[in-house]
Parts: sequence; C-alpha cells; structure tokens
Amino acid sequence: MTWPAVRLARGRESSAVRRHPWIFSGAVNRVEGDPDLGETVLVQAADGRFLAYGAYSPSSQIRIRVWSFEEDRPPDADFLRRRIAKAAARRRPLLQGPDAAARLVHGESDGLPGLIADRFGSLVVVQLLSAGAERHRELIVAAFAELDGVRTIYERSDTEARSKEGLEARTGLLWGEEPAEEIILEECGRRFSVDCRAGHKTGFYLDQRANRTVLEDLVRTVGDGPEVLDAFCYSGGFSVAAAVGGAGRLTQLDASEAALTLARRHVEATEWAGQLEQIHGNAFGELRRLRSEGRLLDMVVLDPPKFAESKARVERASRGYKDINLLAFQLLRPGGHLLTFSCSGRVGVELFGKIVASAAADARRDAQVLAQLGPGRDHPVSLAFPEGAYLKGLLCRVD
Ligand code: SAH
Repeated sequence: MTWPAVRLARGRESSAVRRHPWIFSGAVNRVEGDPDLGETVLVQAADGRFLAYGAYSPSSQIRIRVWSFEEDRPPDADFLRRRIAKAAARRRPLLQGPDAAARLVHGESDGLPGLIADRFGSLVVVQLLSAGAERHRELIVAAFAELDGVRTIYERSDTEARSKEGLEARTGLLWGEEPAEEIILEECGRRFSVDCRAGHKTGFYLDQRANRTVLEDLVRTVGDGPEVLDAFCYSGGFSVAAAVGGAGRLTQLDASEAALTLARRHVEATEWAGQLEQIHGNAFGELRRLRSEGRLLDMVVLDPPKFAESKARVERASRGYKDINLLAFQLLRPGGHLLTFSCSGRVGVELFGKIVASAAADARRDAQVLAQLGPGRDHPVSLAFPEGAYLKGLLCRVD
C-alpha cells in the first residue's frame, strides 16, 4: 500500500519527533497528489525521512492528525481495533457493575485523534470529531461492537469541532438496538439518568466524577448541613453529591430549563430531605443578584462551559472566569469553600490559578488552595499532548 506523502518544511519536524499528534498547516511544505478529507498520508521530514502516518484535513489549521509514529504500523483495520480495545481495557477497573460508566476513548491522549467514546452500561456514545475518525467510521464502529457487553453504539457528532474539519453534524444509531429513552448511570453510589439523544455532549459529564466525590466528602466532613450553591449545574451532578453528603440547603443554577428539570429529579431521587431552590437564568446576572440580596453560602461550585473557544477568546474568557469567581468569593461565609473549574483547554492551570487569585484579592478575601483538581483516570492526558489537559479546578477555603 502506498500513501500520498506530505513533506514538512525544513526545521518543522520537531513536534512530530516529540510525538505531538498535530501538524499545523504552516509546517507543511509540499503535498503529493490531492489527498481526500481524512485520507491517510505519510508525513515526511524535509529530508524525506519517515515521521508519521496521519489523517489529512485540507481546510483545517490542524492539517494532519497523527495516527501512528511507527512506520510498520499504518492505521488499518487491525490497528484501529487494537487501539480501541486497548483504550477500553484500560478502563475495565472503572466499569464494575451493569450501570457503571466511563470514558472509553479520550481522543489524542489514547492515540485516537478526534475520537471520543463514553460507555454507559451496554451503551457506547461516540463522537467522531476529526476527518480521520470520520473516514474510518465503519472500522471504528466495528471495533466498539466487538467489546464485551456492548449492545448499542450511538453517535453524537454534533459539536462545533466538526465544522472546523469541514464535516457536517451527525447523530443517530450506528449499531445495535435503539437506546432506551433514559439510561441509568451509577457513579460512586450516585444515580443519574442519561438521555444520549438530547443530553449535552454524550449525555453526561463523566469527567467530573472524582470531583463530585470531593464535594460529597467535603460536605460530610464539614457537617452541620452546609448551604451549597451548584452553579452551572446541568443535570445536577454536584448537587446530588452534596445531597448525599448531607447538605442542608441546595441551590441549583443553570441557564437551561431542561437541565434544571433533570437536576431536580436527580436530587429528589436521593433520600435527601433538605431544601432545594432552583434559579433559571444567566449565572453572571444571577450571582450578582444573590450578592446584592446579601445571600451567604457555605460552599459554591462553579463549573461553567468552555469560555475560551479559541486562542483569540482567552482574554475575554479570563474576564468571565474572574467575574464569576469574584462573585463566588463574595457570596461565601467565613470558612466557606469554593470548588471552581475551567474546561477551556486554552486556559492553562497557571493562568486559571492567577485568575482565581485575583478574584479573591478583588473580593478582599484571604483564601487557601486545598486541592488542585482535574478529570478522572478515564480522561488521561498524554505527556506528548498537553492540550489534552482541558479540565482544571481548585478547591479553595476562604477566611
Ligand atoms: N456541573 C455539571 C456540568 C456543567 S456543563 C455536571 O456536573 O454535570 C455547563 C452548564 O452551564 C450547562 O448546563 C449550561 O446550560 C450551563 N450554562 C451555560 N452558560 C450559562 C450561563 N451563562 N449561566 C448559567 N448557566 C449556563
């Protein structure tokens, strides 16, 4: 088999040598032939040396996403099947019990650029976000269908990342039985229902599992039924953790009515007997309103959506993070806790720490960091791909 070759410009091979999976358009010198969207190409250094096999994406800034850095391992059916099986095997310890859920494939960090897959019991929800993943969709679906216990494979490739790759949004059943209207998910004893058709992303934010446990433990150890605000609550992942931990009063805040309906159901399904309040609206305005009303809380969770969609947006995003964190600090009682997150890949750990610090300073509060937080082990970050570290968080205590 021969592949179209892409020759890099002189001196532009260093990132591929470091096994970084993205090759930007500016690094490309010459393209042999006219490779199709997602077609496998051979990546060569300026002197013709083999560097990698990757998927070609003619209109994307990320011109090539690397499948393999090994010359004897081109991305054929066997290659993809083995990579997917290996990624799934790594998650096996997390998937005990019929309703257990975990991310099975985390894109570039699992050596599968643009491929995301979350498993909820017998259901696998996939996102094919890159031209290369799209091109190999049949092989990918077949590889998931081979995994033990999988009965349904459902596609949720309806994200903005697809359009950058020149791909249309696609959703629907890919293999097996139609998924149930709602799937029950069990996460460290907390139960949620997931709608893979209409829910956000793949239906549930699995990446926050360990951090929900952090909140649950904190609520339990602090005791006395603390008053907790779950801002950007979506389906109430953190609220359920707070309820199970023994919160006294819970406030859920989200801009989506559908999310709030689900968030209420999830809390009500626990044995919790506390008082639940819901606020439907824009967090920026609603947090300000709570402050002006003089509301005080023991714990605030801030888990906003990605504010920095691109490099150009980092500054504006930083102002957004600063704003909500400042308001959160102002809403906390002395001795209160803040659990604050950013899922913007472009806002690094260091920058996020600075933003939160300046929010505390502007609120004239002294605060300590008790823990640095990130996603669970089913969302690994390849050492060669720091961009994969999108979710970062801080657990802070204020004086
Ligand atoms: N904490 C959730 C995930 C949050 S996802 C969990 O553990 O599952 C981000 C949420 O923020 C979404 O539900 C979205 O509806 C909501 N959102 C986005 N922009 C918002 C805004 N300006 N004000 C309030 N909610 C917003």
